[in-house]
Amino acid sequence: MGTIYINGKWSDAADGSTIDVFNPSTGEEFTTISRGKSEDIDRAVLAANQALDGEWGRLTATERGRLLCRLGQVILDNAEDLAQIEARDTGKPLTVARNDVKVVARYFEFYGTAADKIHGQTIPYLDGFNVSVVRVPHGVTAHIIPWNYPAQMLGRTIAPALAMGNAAVLKPSEDACLSSIRIAQLFDEAGFPAGSFNLVTGYGHEAGAALTSHPKINFATFTGSPEVGVMVQEATARNHVPCVLELGGKSPQVVFNDADLDKAAPQIVKAIVQNAGQTCSAGSRLLIQEDIYDKFMEKVARLFNEVRVGTPEMDLDCGPIVSAKQQKRVQNFIDEAAASGVEVIAKGSISPDAPADGYFVAPVLFGKVPRDHRLACNEVFGPVLSAMSFKDEADAVALANGTEFGLAAGVWTENGSRQARLARKIIAGQVFINCYGAGGGVELPFGGMKKSGHGREKGFLALEEMSTTKTVVQNFNG
Ligand code: NAD
Repeated sequence: MGTIYINGKWSDAADGSTIDVFNPSTGEEFTTISRGKSEDIDRAVLAANQALDGEWGRLTATERGRLLCRLGQVILDNAEDLAQIEARDTGKPLTVARNDVKVVARYFEFYGTAADKIHGQTIPYLDGFNVSVVRVPHGVTAHIIPWNYPAQMLGRTIAPALAMGNAAVLKPSEDACLSSIRIAQLFDEAGFPAGSFNLVTGYGHEAGAALTSHPKINFATFTGSPEVGVMVQEATARNHVPCVLELGGKSPQVVFNDADLDKAAPQIVKAIVQNAGQTCSAGSRLLIQEDIYDKFMEKVARLFNEVRVGTPEMDLDCGPIVSAKQQKRVQNFIDEAAASGVEVIAKGSISPDAPADGYFVAPVLFGKVPRDHRLACNEVFGPVLSAMSFKDEADAVALANGTEFGLAAGVWTENGSRQARLARKIIAGQVFINCYGAGGGVELPFGGMKKSGHGREKGFLALEEMSTTKTVVQNFNG
């Protein structure tokens, strides 16, 4: 069966071409997906446009919300199947995949129950006039997602778009899209009208580029690398289409000398090894006040040395990297940093039972990383934590803000005034105080500052992004 889902029907790519899919835990090819291209994107965008004029476009907000909630339940009914698919496709531990599936269901429930709670405004104007500002969908929305949390990303971007009455076309990552295919089947089961949700599998430079430059889309969201983000922004700009970009990060964990160190250490380790570091908001820089640097590093190193890597079924702390290409990239980062003299303080271990051809990388904690080192500034997107020290609060802020990214940050201190100052001064879309992790918080607006992107997903703000307004001025003077 083809893996392209358009207008409620499954098909192969128009030219019949396919892409091989590999199991990251074993390196073995195990299935293929359809390699959609511009002809397939044309069909998907046409179907979405027709859905807006058809049954889907006629539903009330409450009816759309009910459908979304029903899909949330259908996802939960199929949770184990979806978790197994996600784990095999991405390599993530089964416990993590199971949790991801719960989060997807939650996105559909959250936005399903919110669908009829986004209201417009009335504006007092001239005598004899009614003015209302109505919130309306963009129309056809284009969604491009990466491979690290494919199921969660689908829920995060598609649920608010459909809640607002758009018709969506999704282009998931060629490196992990099997859960998207399964969820598309569940859209059918939940009873969504044909064309409201469409899925085209394929490569970014083919299907992705065709989608973002398609003249009949009205809005685009992209989650992925800063480099591709630029291409998407250029394509949508030429198309006069607004876009939301969620790009990378180099998020700091700032630990002051009055922090509860025993509470902080395990959460800081988890925030970088989770999903093998392939999390855009991973806490990848550890900034420690200099007078507790050695003491705290000892705690973190002890935990880091205990991190175990294996297959999804082994269900350890982390799984493999998603693809051979990414594994090589991450390992190069580690090898080059070590060769340049940056000190390896601790290292997790790959289980001896893990298949030799899997794309595994042992997590590494680097110490005293020079502030201008590549490791301190660039996103690795792997299980690599770079520790540095700072002198005082001003130095901590300068260091925290010292990269071109601004996605998330963690602050660890018991001093309430300092918590408030840091929350204000750190430039990031999310600041966590004595905790860390956006993960499942579907209610929490999420997105970047600086080169981490623009626009917001999650929470109610996503509903605003996924819609626009129309001002209606009615003259009722005789
Ligand atoms: P990527 O940018 O290579 O690919 C992301 C998606 O874009 C994929 O579906 C890909 O097929 C598509 N794509 C590629 N070229 C395209 C083009 N020319 N036009 C349109 N679409 C195109 O990123 P990746 O390798 O899948 O993911 C890793 C990167 O994504 C990391 O840098 C990470 O920080 C970032 N990321 C960010 C977030 C976030 O929410 N901010 C979440 C996950 C990943």
